[in-house]
Amino acid sequence: MAVDLHMHSNFSDGALSPEELTAVCAKNGVTLMSLTDHDTMAGIERTAAAAHDYRIPFIPGIEISTLWGGTGIHVVGLGLNPKSPGVARFLADNAGKREQRGRMMDENLAKVGIHGALEGASKFAEHPSSLSRTHFALWLLEAGHVKTYQEAFDRYLRPGRPGYARIKWPSTVEAVRFIVSEGGTAVLAHPGRYEFQEAWMCGALLEDFQKAGGEAIEVTSGSQSRATDIIFAQKAREMGFLASTGSDWHSPRSPRPGPGLQPPIPRDLTPVWTKFGYPADMG
Ligand code: AMP
Ligand code: MN
Ligand code: MN
Ligand code: MN
Repeated sequence: MAVDLHMHSNFSDGALSPEELTAVCAKNGVTLMSLTDHDTMAGIERTAAAAHDYRIPFIPGIEISTLWGGTGIHVVGLGLNPKSPGVARFLADNAGKREQRGRMMDENLAKVGIHGALEGASKFAEHPSSLSRTHFALWLLEAGHVKTYQEAFDRYLRPGRPGYARIKWPSTVEAVRFIVSEGGTAVLAHPGRYEFQEAWMCGALLEDFQKAGGEAIEVTSGSQSRATDIIFAQKAREMGFLASTGSDWHSPRSPRPGPGLQPPIPRDLTPVWTKFGYPADMG
């Protein structure tokens, strides 16, 4: 039995369509799923329909790009209504920022002699409203500027590298308040992945997140290490967070655990899905 509340389709930077992704979930025995594309809910309707066909319970989700103290922080929103005008407005804003960033990255890469990046990356984006650094990485690889996908991030796309473009994403607190105001549940995504300059900052982020109305943290994630899973399970106990879990799966080519195959959350924690009326022992 496996709950997976964090994964991506080709409506953001995932490789599979909503239907293909849901089929993999069914094959893996996922018992409850969410789709959490970056800054878009455009894939929700199709994924919900596919999940219904496979009889997999489904919670609509999103992964919002935010900033906290200069660090990019991802906040998952569960249970939002993609048709709400407030949601549409907030997401249109972030989509505009993605477009603007794509042009900035194109200019930055041109300065180091790499031309045509925006056009190239766009070809990898199935749904162009949601251009991601992942698409730039895939193009850099295809065009022979790097030898591996990871090298594209390490040489060009990470903060401090020549292709990186800083964008003023909404603050983490703002995004949490938005999710809460729309009746959703805010979940801090893969807390073990953030690289803070100072050790105290992680605790401060958790406090700000909670004060703003954030209720849950991912205590197991396919995109963080097992060592950090343990640290954040303990944080959830100490601070009274609900526990969430997700594979953060993007593609069959990825070395990460597939949908539903990330470690389960420790039994003593209260799973976030109980808030949606699902039994604690579902995952
Ligand atoms: P974006 O939201 O467009 O900035 O793209 C971020 C996505 O790129 C993340 O969701 C990951 O899928 C991927 N990513 C970010 N940083 C790295 C990294 N250092 N190495 C590999 N992939 C990364
Ligand atoms: Mn991604
Ligand atoms: Mn993320
Ligand atoms: Mn993700």
